[in-house]
Amino acid sequence: MDNFKVAIVNYICPICGRVAEENIICNSLLTPKVASEVEKLHNQNVGYSDHACKDCAKYKDDVVYFVGINEEKSTNKDVYRTGQIAGVRKEASLVSEVEKFIITLEDETKFCFIDVNIGKQIGLWND
Ligand SMILES: [Zn+2]
Repeated sequence: MDNFKVAIVNYICPICGRVAEENIICNSLLTPKVASEVEKLHNQNVGYSDHACKDCAKYKDDVVYFVGINEEKSTNKDVYRTGQIAGVRKEASLVSEVEKFIITLEDETKFCFIDVNIGKQIGLWND
C-alpha cells in the first residue's frame, strides 16, 4: 500500500550534533503524495532535540559546554558548528562571564556557542 508510510527521524543533540532521539513518524493523510514525503524523511536529521544526548547529559551537573562555531558561516536560523566542544566547570570565572549567552535545555544541560577562534585564544582547544 503506497498511501501509508512510516519513517524513523532523528533529532540531534544541540551540543555534540549526534543523534539524541529517534522518533517514528507516519502520515495521517492517506495519499501517495504525503506518504512519499514521509518516506523521504526516513533516517534523516529533522531538527535539534530539546535535550542533550546521553553522553553530553552525563556531565550536565558539573559543566557548561562551550560549542565552537564559525560566526561568518552562521545565520540567525542555524549555527555553523566547527566540531570543537569543551566542558568548562560551572564554578569557573569564564562561565559567569558568558552567563547571559548560556542556553539551558529541557534536561538542564547548559551550553553556549563561542567563535572557534576566540575559544582557541582563551585556551578551550588547540585548533
Ligand atoms: Zn551530545
